[in-house]
Amino acid sequence: MSLADSASPVRGTPSLLEDALRQHFGWCAFRPGQRPVVEALLAGQDCLAVLPTGGGKSLCFQLPALVRQGLVLVISPLVALMQDQVMQLQRRGIAAACLHRGLGVSERRSLHGALRDGRLRLLYLAPERLQVEATRQLLEEVLDSGRLVALAVDEAHCISAWGHDFRPDYRRLGQLRALCPGVPLVALSATAAPRVRADIIRLLQLRRPLVQVRSARRTNLTYAMRRRPADPLPLVLEAVARARGAVLIYARTRRSVEQWASRLLVAGLEAIAYHAGLDAESRVLALEHFQQQPRPVLVATVAFGMGVDRPDVGLVLHLDLPPSAEGYLQESGRAGRDGLPAECLVLFDPADRTTLGWAIRGAAAGHGSGDAGAAQQRLELAQRQLRRMEAVAEGETCREQALLLAVGELVPPCGRCDRCLEEDRRRDWSGRATRVLACLQQRGGQDLRSLAADLADGASGQEQERWAWLARRLVQEELLSESDDGAQRLYLRTRGRHYLRQPWPLHWAA
Ligand code: ADP
Ligand code: ZN
Repeated sequence: MSLADSASPVRGTPSLLEDALRQHFGWCAFRPGQRPVVEALLAGQDCLAVLPTGGGKSLCFQLPALVRQGLVLVISPLVALMQDQVMQLQRRGIAAACLHRGLGVSERRSLHGALRDGRLRLLYLAPERLQVEATRQLLEEVLDSGRLVALAVDEAHCISAWGHDFRPDYRRLGQLRALCPGVPLVALSATAAPRVRADIIRLLQLRRPLVQVRSARRTNLTYAMRRRPADPLPLVLEAVARARGAVLIYARTRRSVEQWASRLLVAGLEAIAYHAGLDAESRVLALEHFQQQPRPVLVATVAFGMGVDRPDVGLVLHLDLPPSAEGYLQESGRAGRDGLPAECLVLFDPADRTTLGWAIRGAAAGHGSGDAGAAQQRLELAQRQLRRMEAVAEGETCREQALLLAVGELVPPCGRCDRCLEEDRRRDWSGRATRVLACLQQRGGQDLRSLAADLADGASGQEQERWAWLARRLVQEELLSESDDGAQRLYLRTRGRHYLRQPWPLHWAA
């Protein structure tokens, strides 16, 4: 069914969805990409939603459950991730639960009760739960009751061997379609290259899905990648001091997490450690610390972060080269969810390649499906991803452009990252400066805006901004003067006339 010929009662009443959004979540507008997915699900259409980290994917499947007062079943890879979302929903007074192995008998009973009464709006499951007979029975009951509004597969890239986080458990999710033929299915991911997208659609058997892909571009993030000096501590301290809000520092191993946390403590920062080797209580404490302190510094392995929802992370710092661009975009994407400027810094060393190479081989061997061919394929993929990430770090081009290209998206240089700024620094502006000055000499004077528009010669607003910036820079260099009346009318000065006769190099950072 396409959206155009659907007769969903929700369509045509644009304020209804906004009302629900306000009522249940207290937000006044949808984020880009959310509304079409919600509408499609309500109209019974399958969807693939690729929205950047922090883009608000969960809402896409949560709202339909609330609008319909039915149930949405969510498949999610990690219990911690599910529990976190359940907690957030419960805080909003929305009935949600998570079905996992660790549930006690009474918890399970009350969950079943809530399901049967039709009170539950969201039920989260780990993928392997679907293989359990009792879960299947439950699913059938829910289907029979007619209350199942949609199925959601979160982190759907895990289904693809081309993704950065392949999980064999996800493969069996292909059964969902056959189990619930009439229920719309939504697959969600933050980064899915075209090949991964095609895999998701094929393996989940999505039917004529609405595909919503929003750029993974995050214009408030500034990427920088630097060679890790012999002693990175001063660099780390400097970056942390510069950062606003919370700071997330990623180290590769548990050991280095511990070491870095104590080094930072000694340096006077109240840093705490988080990794999967900590006991449950310490992990909960670390999480609380990170969520509640005004400026926490957390050192963690990549086990930390999924589902952690702190909007004002001002710095995500990687102490080693991340093994893939996909993974890195997800981790760095935890910065600046509030839309304010934030920094993403990677410290790397050519030797990282060797250690990561070992780790990758270990992981590929340890995946343990017993299929040697598949293991070899995964190993090669991981090695390719590592080489790509290395090329981003060592490369001369825009970081954002290179990172996004590695996940299949083509964007222009960002103008903010370390490489873009260097490029500008390296650039000699004298040629362009001469054009500005010559133009003003010829016209006798002109206001800044129309001058910039003329020089940009019909090009985009950004190009005009660059010319305007240059003209202002020339005023500061006393090559031009500006009228005092606020009209920003520019004139050539004597120094400017000199310059035109005998230009000199001008190296500035934009
Ligand atoms: P993702 O899973 O895409 O990384 P989340 O679903 O965790 O993102 O949402 C990221 C943040 O944005 C959360 O704090 C969420 O509550 C918030 N959010 C989602 N949708 C909206 C919206 N329409 N308006 C305001 N905040 C929103
Ligand atoms: Zn850039």
